[in-house]
Amino acid sequence: MFKVNNLTAKIENKTLLENFDLQINDGEVHVIMGRNGIGKSTLCKLIMRDKNYEVKGGSITYNNKNLLELETYEIAREKIMLISQNPISIEGVTNAEVLRTALREIKNENINIFEFNKKMEEACKALDLDPKFIHKEVNVGASGGERKKIELLHAAVLEPQFLILDEIDSGLDVDALKVVANFINDYHKKTDCSILIITHHPNIIEYIKPNYVHVLENGKIVKSGDYHLAYEIESSGFGANIMVEDDRNE
Ligand code: ADP
Ligand code: MG
Repeated sequence: MFKVNNLTAKIENKTLLENFDLQINDGEVHVIMGRNGIGKSTLCKLIMRDKNYEVKGGSITYNNKNLLELETYEIAREKIMLISQNPISIEGVTNAEVLRTALREIKNENINIFEFNKKMEEACKALDLDPKFIHKEVNVGASGGERKKIELLHAAVLEPQFLILDEIDSGLDVDALKVVANFINDYHKKTDCSILIITHHPNIIEYIKPNYVHVLENGKIVKSGDYHLAYEIESSGFGANIMVEDDRNE
């Protein structure tokens, strides 16, 4: 189980999350929506222990381990993976090299190269991604959409149990969005992993059908519902939704 309790975090004296709570049970899919600059990517980076963000209080736990006490590489070893909004490129090292090294570290044994190559080729096929990328430097010369697919290729090989997708749908055309959503659905079915999706658009929600949709505002979740909430936001905007919640609280 993944749990954020009463988290308050700042950057450069600006409070981005304040008494923020979230619980994701094993196998659940949650979506967080919210205005630009509200702190969605901040939450993702905090989970991965980006030290640029200062934690003022609260906790982040995964399977009862305090993630705030771990370094980023230790969090990755807990099988948590973030696909960031803008995946960076890494020159001088290919996807195959990164994945082979990481996999050897996870499994603590030598990798069967035949199975490893097969897995990567199958993932490329499922992602409609040119397999030439397998032996190319990580994300170098890749478009925004291709970068998202390359990161999902990494997920297919490393098999995280908690997958965080920060705007996986940005930079994807309609066909690529369908392919990526199907890939995520298949991965979820196969592994029963937990997934946190950050998005602005209900399009991806239509394919993935999450258990919960949450709205982030003023540093915390102000409204939660099922996937219909995403359509409400699409038609009436964030302001209207937050008003509804305020009315109910009165
Ligand atoms: P979003 O909800 O769009 O993902 P972010 O979490 O990226 O928003 O950013 C929230 C706010 O924090 C924004 O106003 C952004 O400018 C600011 N911010 C994020 N990262 C930094 C940083 N490293 N230094 C200064 N300000 C930052
Ligand atoms: Mg963001």
